[in-house]
Amino acid sequence: MGIMAHKKGLIMGVANDKSLAWGIAQTLSKQGAKMAFSYQSEVIYRRVKPLAESLGGIELIECDVTDDESLKSLFEQLGDKFGKIDFIVHSIAFASKKDLVGKYVDISRNNFLNSMNVSCYSFTAVCQHASNYLADGASILTLTYLGAERVMPNYNVMGVAKAALEASVKYLAVDFGGRNIRINGLSAGPVKTLAASGIDNFGYIFKWNQYNAPLKRNTTLEDVGGTAVFLLSDLSSGVTGEIIHTDSGYHIVGMKAADAPDISISALSVAD
Ligand code: NAD
Repeated sequence: MGIMAHKKGLIMGVANDKSLAWGIAQTLSKQGAKMAFSYQSEVIYRRVKPLAESLGGIELIECDVTDDESLKSLFEQLGDKFGKIDFIVHSIAFASKKDLVGKYVDISRNNFLNSMNVSCYSFTAVCQHASNYLADGASILTLTYLGAERVMPNYNVMGVAKAALEASVKYLAVDFGGRNIRINGLSAGPVKTLAASGIDNFGYIFKWNQYNAPLKRNTTLEDVGGTAVFLLSDLSSGVTGEIIHTDSGYHIVGMKAADAPDISISALSVAD
């Protein structure tokens, strides 16, 4: 039956078959979880519907996380469907492509607030709206990146948003801990997704990680799915307020590996 048998939850942020949320959903499904997906818009719906159908029995509910009415309606619908919710995956971020290149200092007030709204506040809003529907022992997970802890080229406002998101994980862990509800973050290594394609020269970050991570390879959707299922399952019943890196170990590295090939940004094609 799997370690997630009898657990019911919500996956937010599947956009296509490259999405980290899709890797998590596939692993959850293999472990017997019952799920609903929320999707941002009609355009996303058309891409997510066949994926949901391939797993079977997944309800699709529209939700734009910048809209409180939309969040309220999402959890009302989930409450009707599931009663209590055992897990939530928040795999959502946004920054304008024009702010993911050049200097962080150049960002406008409006774009800063919009990036923080979607990429950071939305996680708190999800926890707030979900609160009355959460089961004893529920587990909530968000996705983050090392750019929260250290400067990565062109990550800019997303790094600032992820730092605030990681701090939110800690405050939310305390808010919900007394109800035996856990809040954690998964810090994934670079993966080629729609969101990642917005970061200028992402191919350079991708290759750099591949050559310099202790495991000498990049992160896969299966890697992310495995850690996520651990954090969402009862196996991690004593873990909350934690950020677990799933990045082939890259976060422990201090310098370029002696055996890493030299790479130049100009030599990388878009496909790299
Ligand atoms: P993705 O493009 O597949 O997923 C991003 C999702 O955010 C999409 O489904 C999109 O619809 C959703 N979204 C954006 N604005 C929204 C809104 N207003 N309302 C509802 N949904 C909205 O890309 P991904 O890389 O799978 O990103 C998922 C998460 O993983 C993000 O938080 C991202 O920062 C994080 N992450 C990604 C990487 C990577 O290298 N790809 C590494 C570490 C962390």
